[in-house]
Amino acid sequence: MKNPLEKVDLKNLSPSELVEFLGTFGKERYRSIQILRWFYQKGVESFDEMTNLSKRFRHELHQVSFISTLQPLHIEQAWDGTKKYLFRLEDGNRIESVLIPDKKRLTLCLSTQVGCALGCRFCLTGKMGLKRNLTTSEILNQILAVRKILLARESITNIVLMGMGEPLANYQNTLKAIELMHHPDAFKFSSRRITLSTVGLLPELERLAKEKISFRLAISLNATDEETRSQMMPINRLYPLKKILALCKIFLLHPRTRITFEYVMVAGINDSSLDAKRLLRLLRGIPSKVNLIPLNEAPGIPFKKPLEEKVKQFQEILMEGGLTAIVRMSKGREISAACGQLQGKSSDGRAQIWGQNQNIDF
Ligand code: SAH
Ligand code: SF4
Repeated sequence: MKNPLEKVDLKNLSPSELVEFLGTFGKERYRSIQILRWFYQKGVESFDEMTNLSKRFRHELHQVSFISTLQPLHIEQAWDGTKKYLFRLEDGNRIESVLIPDKKRLTLCLSTQVGCALGCRFCLTGKMGLKRNLTTSEILNQILAVRKILLARESITNIVLMGMGEPLANYQNTLKAIELMHHPDAFKFSSRRITLSTVGLLPELERLAKEKISFRLAISLNATDEETRSQMMPINRLYPLKKILALCKIFLLHPRTRITFEYVMVAGINDSSLDAKRLLRLLRGIPSKVNLIPLNEAPGIPFKKPLEEKVKQFQEILMEGGLTAIVRMSKGREISAACGQLQGKSSDGRAQIWGQNQNIDF
């Protein structure tokens, strides 16, 4: 009997890798389409449910491969409807996903790594350091696990790769996951509804600019001069602000429409009107939109959130300069589900906690 660890986790395969894999035991191309639909459209978790495949074929698949799944350990809900899902991975590591309702949208925020190596000083995930990359299946199974327990009238409309980790530091697995999110036989999300947020790793951005795959790009800018950005985000010493923006101008404009720039506002560090004016100058020539995110404070983070007037003033300067600037009030703060608060553990019980096997009735 084969060691089950050697079996292939089929959700780690891209559509073309699946075709190739099935080809090794003589199966036709259309079989891959059937399998993709079973996994990602119908959400099956066992080969036995795949009724348009012969018993023999299912048995063959079972011999060489398996279907991985994720179940939430805890689900917490904040007063604003935001839900945080805590998952325990096979190796005991923990990750989180956040579901954010907003008017007509239901956005799922996914993790791409356990922890993060980049250590931005305002981010709790950064404080954990990097444990490991997520596999493609672990990224995708977050969607499947959340979708499985949605109410009948709910459906996920948008995906953002803004949870734990730096998606471009886990380049291959993340891109494969995005391919499946978009694929017509898999999740079928339009590329406009998938957003990847990155600090701007230059080599990976250059590589990305040459890929055919399309999605929305968000770059975490967070400062308007090199010194301040390096203070907040040590990675800026390696990949400085100016070079990232130069690359945005040259490479990234087509076919990706506007780039979103995220700007975490920190009191006394990057919230002055001078910063706003500098930001306007920096983004000149790049079709862009700015998301202003007032810092989510947390114990262990040596910064304070800005005064509301400062945020307003900053936004007005950008808008007067012709930029679209939106203030993003982070949701789910009391369950530590807001930007930068994900650490792979549940909060301290102020919010309601549901166990995995309890009747979940939101
Ligand atoms: N690593 C990627 C994606 C995950 S972080 C990135 O950095 O872009 C997602 C967003 O949360 C980033 O824009 C980041 O700047 C922001 N963020 C991190 N910590 C935060 C905090 N304490 N308050 C508000 N936003 C924060
Ligand atoms: Fe990593 Fe993003 Fe947090 Fe920085 S802000 S430490 S890149 S997760």
